[in-house]
Amino acid sequence: MTDTRPFDPDTLAVRAGTRRSEFNEHSEALYLTSSFVFGSAAEAASLFSGEEEGFVYSRFSNPTVRMFEERLAALEGAEDALATSSGMAAILASALAVLKAGDHVVCGAGVFGATVRLFSDVLGRFGIDTTYVRGAAEADWRAAITPRTRLLYCETPSNPLMELVDLEVFARLGRESGAVTVVDNCFCTPVLQRPLDHGVDLVIHSATKYLDGQGRVLGGAVLGRRTMIREAVLPVLRSAGPSLSPFNAWVLLKGLETLPLRMRAQSAAAQRLAEWLETQPGVQRVHFPGLASHPQRTLVARQQGGPGAVLSFEIDAASPEEARARAWRLIDHVRLMSITANLGDTRTTITHPASTTHGRLTPEARARAGIGEGLIRIAVGLESVDDLQADLARALAT
Ligand SMILES: *Cc1c(COP(=O)(O)O)cnc(C)c1O
Repeated sequence: MTDTRPFDPDTLAVRAGTRRSEFNEHSEALYLTSSFVFGSAAEAASLFSGEEEGFVYSRFSNPTVRMFEERLAALEGAEDALATSSGMAAILASALAVLKAGDHVVCGAGVFGATVRLFSDVLGRFGIDTTYVRGAAEADWRAAITPRTRLLYCETPSNPLMELVDLEVFARLGRESGAVTVVDNCFCTPVLQRPLDHGVDLVIHSATKYLDGQGRVLGGAVLGRRTMIREAVLPVLRSAGPSLSPFNAWVLLKGLETLPLRMRAQSAAAQRLAEWLETQPGVQRVHFPGLASHPQRTLVARQQGGPGAVLSFEIDAASPEEARARAWRLIDHVRLMSITANLGDTRTTITHPASTTHGRLTPEARARAGIGEGLIRIAVGLESVDDLQADLARALAT
């Protein structure tokens, strides 16, 4: 073994980014301070101008936040990272870093609901328009790109149908059209997928999900090349202020320590549950990247280091009304799983996308997106798989 061998993710998750104070604390300290004291007027001036590196004011620099940023950057294979107050703040910061009035965005249709509202309703008021592309076909993405397109945005796998976007193709489309490519890596986390390795420009995270992993705090991050992060994203954070609190950064730093363990355990549990669900009467179809029946098997193997822990399945029914009634009855009869639209927690959650996360879409738009009334999504946590299976078996039997 040579000393140039890079550390594995398990090591980076517990070691990367750590900085110790003069007290040599072993566990990372929480620097709960809004500002920092300067040794002299000259030092203050050079820190403010950026001539000298150091901590100035926690809206844009704080040691605990920096430790979280550096640890996450190490895991994602990113040159640099900036933390934000939430996942949505990270998406907003990446958009504001790249876009101006008159620009056009091409976005995957299967992205998080608030992302659609951010692009269409909020940025739409500032002269930025967005085209949504269904599915992952290269021709469809290419057809949506115009000379005004400045940003290509996607999530892979998509929620809740677990459709993948080919990241190599996505990055190439960005290079060919001169648009910046952004991937929301919330579902896979850097443990299972590193979009920057495939040539994507920016990765954003909702740290609220798997990075925390225990449903405690909100947070987010934008990661990419140092010049882009420092020159395009930092000015947005510094001037607009969607910054991560040091306390939340400290919680997230502790969350990252168990991220590889949790992702492996939760993916393995989801795999077992998905395989079992496929054999159950009354279950029409299971959507999960780890199944042999997944239509993008080879892409899954090439791009993801594991299936992830989110699956969805469709209940058999003769009509949409019956499908909804059956799906709701199943959800109302689980005892262990939490009925919530959240995911990435150690506790398993179950939700009915058509009436919650995708409830604001018109029935036609939902049908186009493939979100049927009988569809149920499960984000698998850390409970015993046998207990989860028993919970679902009983609910299915009703
Ligand atoms: C939750 C979520 C977000 C938004 O993150 P917040 O931290 O809630 O602002 C963005 N993308 C995906 C895929 C999410 O699941």
